[in-house]
Amino acid sequence: MNKKESVDFILSIDTEEEWDWSGTFPTRDFRLDNIKLIPELQEMCHALGIRTTYFVDHAVADNEESVALMKPFSDRGECEIAAHLHPWCNPPIDEEINERNSHVVNLDIALVEKKLAELTVTLETAFGCKPTAFRTGRWGIDGPILKLLADYGYTVDSSVYPFYSNEFFTCQGASLNPYWPSFSDSLKEDRQQNRIIEMPVTVGFNRVNFELFNHLQEKLSNKPYKWFHPIGLAWHTGIFKKIYLCPEMSTTSDMQSLIDKSLIRGQRVFHMYLHSSSLLSGATGFMESKDAFNDIAIRITNIVKYLSTKAEINFCTITESANQYMKRDGQ
Ligand SMILES: [Zn+2]
Repeated sequence: MNKKESVDFILSIDTEEEWDWSGTFPTRDFRLDNIKLIPELQEMCHALGIRTTYFVDHAVADNEESVALMKPFSDRGECEIAAHLHPWCNPPIDEEINERNSHVVNLDIALVEKKLAELTVTLETAFGCKPTAFRTGRWGIDGPILKLLADYGYTVDSSVYPFYSNEFFTCQGASLNPYWPSFSDSLKEDRQQNRIIEMPVTVGFNRVNFELFNHLQEKLSNKPYKWFHPIGLAWHTGIFKKIYLCPEMSTTSDMQSLIDKSLIRGQRVFHMYLHSSSLLSGATGFMESKDAFNDIAIRITNIVKYLSTKAEINFCTITESANQYMKRDGQ
């Protein structure tokens, strides 16, 4: 029998207030009921061997009750506390609250710096350790923000969302594996830059040639094909579909397919992610489930078990995985 390949498995959780994602951005009086479900999630993950990473935003880090729920397992070293920047609820709020300004890449870099400084010190005060990993709210990153993060002592960024673009930024063309992002183009690798590493979440297709099917998906999403919904057709007939290693968006069987195809492509870091607010049924209007916590817990368990039949799993937090990557990379 062939020896199984060794892979890293990361589970990162955006740990944040709950709100209706189709509504306005909450700037104060946050609802944080979902955080009460975190200890149970942590207990389950710990029993599976997962070394969780929590990307905690300012609303959570600034709330004593939420911190008290998370601090015990953080103090035991069972997880990593990382930083998550939701500009609309992270002081100072000098900008107008709107869709455009909800994306960190659209803000003045001086304002980003003030928000980052406040977030970093709040996390350090709350949890007693300095965060080393960072993710923007709603994804997206650029060179100046990466440089700023490095200047503030961050060594890992995880704001790249593969195969995604919107009117403000694109992640199209970025590596699916960890890479040293250039400060002049965050999607390109610059091996001279070795201060901060990019650790993208795992996204792909149910076909091995991700690039081809991504191209096809992009093409079919645009005119003149838009009117007959070819993406939906391809999806439902199983011809091809985009899959996220995300238990709130993808079924067990889809994620298994993504793992199979990614292993064939030589991927050795599997990075699953979710939002803490999805654990609370109906809280965001995003995940349709009567018992969201249970559905997510089952999918995480299924995927860990499945991956363990395919590979030797090295469970690590995001910074641990980045450090191992650097070691292998000879940095
Ligand atoms: Zn978020």
